[in-house]
Amino acid sequence: MTLIPTANPATTARDHLGRPLRDLRISVTDRCNFRCVYCMPKEKFGSDYQFLERKALLSFEEITRLARLFTTLGIEKIRLTGGEPLVRRGIEQLIAMLSAIPCLDLTLTTNGSLLAKKAAALRAAGLKRVTVSLDSLDDAVFKAMNDVDFPVAKVLEGIDAAAAAGLTPVKINMVVKRGVNEHSILPMAKFFRERGHILRFIEYMDVGATNGWRMDEVVSAREIVDMISRELPLEPADANYSGEVAERWRYKDGSGEIGVIASVTQAFCRDCTRARISTEGQLYTCLFATAGHDLRALLRGGASDEALLAKIGGVWSARDDRYSEIRGRQTVPLKKIEMSYIGG
Ligand code: SAM
Ligand code: SF4
Ligand code: SF4
Repeated sequence: MTLIPTANPATTARDHLGRPLRDLRISVTDRCNFRCVYCMPKEKFGSDYQFLERKALLSFEEITRLARLFTTLGIEKIRLTGGEPLVRRGIEQLIAMLSAIPCLDLTLTTNGSLLAKKAAALRAAGLKRVTVSLDSLDDAVFKAMNDVDFPVAKVLEGIDAAAAAGLTPVKINMVVKRGVNEHSILPMAKFFRERGHILRFIEYMDVGATNGWRMDEVVSAREIVDMISRELPLEPADANYSGEVAERWRYKDGSGEIGVIASVTQAFCRDCTRARISTEGQLYTCLFATAGHDLRALLRGGASDEALLAKIGGVWSARDDRYSEIRGRQTVPLKKIEMSYIGG
């Protein structure tokens, strides 16, 4: 069967709540060279932690086959993530394979640690842009958050290399945790406004079961916007497209914009068009899902494209996830999947 990638509404899968399938995150590794306190705390991800074996990971061919199939169901955007995607050996080769798929917006989220070395090769392989995570410009704060003593300067070098290689616009993600890095909000806003990169603030989320999340550690998007606006006045900007998760704000003096991702205080489940594939090929329909659907078994069991499409379409049609909207009403604690495995 020849599959012609298309976002034709006729082939766009809709879930139980009428939401189309539009974007896909693929985790290419569960490993990472950082131990961010809100994601892979050292106490849980220590030297004895059992990461997946190589053969458990989807191969580049398997990932590419799935990506092609997903585009026939309406996927327009794929983000590679992890773990740290740039620690996966040969990632440039995967980028080249995926960027050959027509009509696909391909991007990647990275902690930036290997970007100075890899930006040019990623661009040459066909990657168009990147998002870099950075939680502070203050070395002491950043090192305490990444927990492996990694300096800010090296991430900034990576950001510069990405911009120089044409991986633009470069977006910067900052997770804000109360009592840890809220004092870094304003310096980060000023710094990236001057450089023309789009900074996005992410509310600290209760993903996984290891970060010991507490609601009082969340700095709300509202507080973040107010804090910046007092010094650098902001006004709301329209969304770029329907279902955009970041709420956009622009500086009134025309000097750029920021985004806030209010996943906790202003849930956006009703517009959530995102599926995730874990490192070992489990399909998840929500970041807070407790179970996935095994696509790897189908791939390795010789399933046809039709059978895979039927499985994926069936899973999406049955989807009724809206965890963030009902977070407060949850009575039984969920056995949630770690973000580094499911792909943040
Ligand atoms: N290692 C890459 C990185 O850090 O950019 C990609 C994977 S990481 C899991 C993807 C994104 O999830 C990062 O921007 C990270 O800051 C964010 N993240 C991780 N844990 C989070 C949490 N508990 N709450 C909010 N965002 C989180
Ligand atoms: Fe690694 Fe990214 Fe998680 Fe930090 S947020 S531990 S860099 S996967
Ligand atoms: Fe989407 Fe689930 Fe997040 Fe809601 S909680 S926005 S359904 S991933």
